[in-house]
Amino acid sequence: MSLPAKVDLLGLNLQELTNLAVENQQPTFRGKQLAEAVYRQRIPALEQISTLPQNFRFHLAESGVDIGWPEILKRFVSHDGTIRYLIGFGDGESVETVWMPEGDGGEAGDGSDAYEDGEQQHLHEWHRATICISSQVGCAVNCQFCLTAKLGVKRNLTAGEIAGQVLVILRDQGVDVGKERINLVFMGMGEPFLNYDNFMKAVRILVEEVGIPESRMTVSTAGIVPRIEDFAKESIRPKLAISLNASNDELRESVMPLNRKWDLEALIGAAKAFPLRNRERLTFEYVLLSGVNDKKENAREVVRLLNGVRAKVNLIALNPGPEIPYSTPDEQRVHEFQNILIDAGIPAFIRRPRGLDIYAACGQLKRTEELVALR
Ligand code: SF4
Repeated sequence: MSLPAKVDLLGLNLQELTNLAVENQQPTFRGKQLAEAVYRQRIPALEQISTLPQNFRFHLAESGVDIGWPEILKRFVSHDGTIRYLIGFGDGESVETVWMPEGDGGEAGDGSDAYEDGEQQHLHEWHRATICISSQVGCAVNCQFCLTAKLGVKRNLTAGEIAGQVLVILRDQGVDVGKERINLVFMGMGEPFLNYDNFMKAVRILVEEVGIPESRMTVSTAGIVPRIEDFAKESIRPKLAISLNASNDELRESVMPLNRKWDLEALIGAAKAFPLRNRERLTFEYVLLSGVNDKKENAREVVRLLNGVRAKVNLIALNPGPEIPYSTPDEQRVHEFQNILIDAGIPAFIRRPRGLDIYAACGQLKRTEELVALR
């Protein structure tokens, strides 16, 4: 006799939860109860969902259904309040998810949209935070400045594993989503657009079932052009950030080998065609590497490149790491670069790194227990 296939509730949308209830001879409203229990109440175990009849709970458990919560394996706490979580899944794989209380200064670390109108005065300090979410175990894109790239890609995360990172941290931090402001950035380990369907399903669950508005979510892509085009057609979608990191093709190929597949002409073409909502801007992220892409000429090239795109630029001075062949530019250089963009009318922000001491900053996620020990 074969064992029943395991089904995780986490990752199922309302329709699928309703189908599950109906397949088990339950009324349709049980689907809503399941969604409520998993996504709103974050109940730890199936047998604790007291809104469901006991025989239904037993029956689900017997047929291999579980909630499928990921497990918090470790927390690394930075002096700046950032927490890097190591989160494990049923097959023994793990990813990192980062909690940044008080936000990271805005969805993209620039303070440009840290508050909504009128919100600032009545929110207590820790009533806003940003969670940086992983979409794959490792990453295949191989950006040369990124520690995650050193892992290669092991597998895609499921929609339940992507949404589950958010939910276990909300539970760990005791967050009331209705009252406290939570920003989500899909900028952790992995390239979300190489795991597009699972990423988008997780987004819809986070919006529709968990209750986090899409306007408070940002996804960052290294530039998977066909998926940018798909993403443009989504009715529910986070804001888009594009990881630029170079001002011409030759330079970008050396820093981001994927530029050989989708060059700047294709990337900027997709950016220009991307339909933006009212007051929305595309974010371009630019990691400054000393002596490589941080010259004044590079800044002027970026200005030319972004001509005609409603854009803002986040500048990130490289967060150093072992095996990374670049160094961090000095502050003056970063400011000079910023000023050239601002003088050309492009909003440009210097993003302050979070959790540097625990390897939680951008491009540093590598399940780095040993790295923290080294410091
Ligand atoms: S920067 Fe992002 S896309 Fe590039 S290798 Fe790192 S995780 Fe992957």
